[in-house]
Amino acid sequence: MTQGTSGSRPGPYRAIICDLDGVVYRGGMACPGAVEGLTAARAAGIRVLYLTNNAGHRPEEVEERLRGLGLPVASGEVITSSMVAAAHVATLTPPREDAVTLAVGGPGVRLCLERAGVRTVSPADLSDGDGPPVWAVVQGYGAQLTVSDLNEAAYAIHDGALWVATNADSTLPTERGLAPGNGSMLAAVGHGTGRTPDLVVGKPERPAFQRCLEVLGLAPEEVLTIGDRLDTDIAGARAVGIPTALVLTGVHDRDDVEAAAPERCPDIIVDTIPDLGLVAGG
Ligand SMILES: [Mg+2]
Repeated sequence: MTQGTSGSRPGPYRAIICDLDGVVYRGGMACPGAVEGLTAARAAGIRVLYLTNNAGHRPEEVEERLRGLGLPVASGEVITSSMVAAAHVATLTPPREDAVTLAVGGPGVRLCLERAGVRTVSPADLSDGDGPPVWAVVQGYGAQLTVSDLNEAAYAIHDGALWVATNADSTLPTERGLAPGNGSMLAAVGHGTGRTPDLVVGKPERPAFQRCLEVLGLAPEEVLTIGDRLDTDIAGARAVGIPTALVLTGVHDRDDVEAAAPERCPDIIVDTIPDLGLVAGG
């Protein structure tokens, strides 16, 4: 067993579902071994999807950030929670032909809905009170989100619209500390409407991981999830039967695993991604 590895060496796997913050980068810096490990895995034919709860940014912005670290990333290899929400809403039939979906959050929320073929409006489109009927609300994080945006979400939800949340993270780590995340914005709308979201799609919820499996066209056991958090990456992947690796470059450490409930424990713990031994001789 490689030094710094706990558990048996995994694989062989046909694909990796990789978390970003704490696995690929931390702040502006790449995590130790991440670029080398993921580049080698990809070169060896292991497909890599990057799964993030980030909803407000466009997928291309996330891809660009990864390329900036030196990672080879093709279009479509980043899956944001807005993409998962949009793929879900696109499978549903609106109750009437003129009904629209309200996108609340950063530009990524609306963009992903439109790309999925969903008829979408923004809160500003409804502000005169004379807009088309809203049958669904997709709510994700947006740094420029306003109270007016939350108001429009609340009006539609009051009127019975389906409420889909990209993710329910209560906090958002920033350079100055923890800021309120999308879960806190959901709580504001929930407090004002007496409702909770009908569906949350982001990690640790199942739709995020199920969407990755759909995109890959693979069975859970053919894929490895790599994450740094037991409560989101590991618990979420385990819930859909995907093998899991905890990498110790982010939030949780070996003591956290010792203290965790079994359903949050990874199959393997490694210091860095190359320690996974995914690539023969690597
Ligand atoms: Mg993370």
